[in-house]
Amino acid sequence: MKDSRLEKPAADIAQRVRALSEAVSAVHEIPDGFVDTVLEQVEHWKPSNGAHVVAKSWCDAAYRERLMRDGTAACAELGYEGPQGEYIVALANTPEVHNVIVCTQCSCTAWPVLGLPPDWYKSPEYRARVAREPRPVLLQLGLELPPEVKVRVWDTTAETRYLVIPMRPEGTQGWSEDQLRASVTRESLIGVAVL
Ligand code: FE
Repeated sequence: MKDSRLEKPAADIAQRVRALSEAVSAVHEIPDGFVDTVLEQVEHWKPSNGAHVVAKSWCDAAYRERLMRDGTAACAELGYEGPQGEYIVALANTPEVHNVIVCTQCSCTAWPVLGLPPDWYKSPEYRARVAREPRPVLLQLGLELPPEVKVRVWDTTAETRYLVIPMRPEGTQGWSEDQLRASVTRESLIGVAVL
């Protein structure tokens, strides 16, 4: 038998969001002002924050050591903390090992240092394939790694939010931290690009 509910077209997204928001508010599941607070925080969550962390780690060996030991604390040192930034683990790329991150369950990233995830990161295709066959996926995204480089894929869990620390590009000796910071891309912080 056909379910008549399936024949009705879905309401547009704004209507659905409003209905959901009203339903959740009605049972007091969202504290007053929560949505506004989150929207305000989102403004400050940018990949350029992660770029700052990376550039500092290239310029300051003691900071890099703290970052590798406790990513959460090292990011917080620069003011990058908050929701989804409670358990940041830094993964440093080396000439031998290239790190890539994914959330196969959904689309988690370390918001304070990466911002909200890009659409391709949330796509079922990326999530399903990158863990199984990272090289072809990376190639599709424009990154060809030498065969001798080991690719490590890290799947986000409730206890971890990863941040890839790309290798400092050749020929950047003498660059200021700000110049370096501007050279770091969001894709390199996820591990689907190098610099
Ligand atoms: Fe997720």
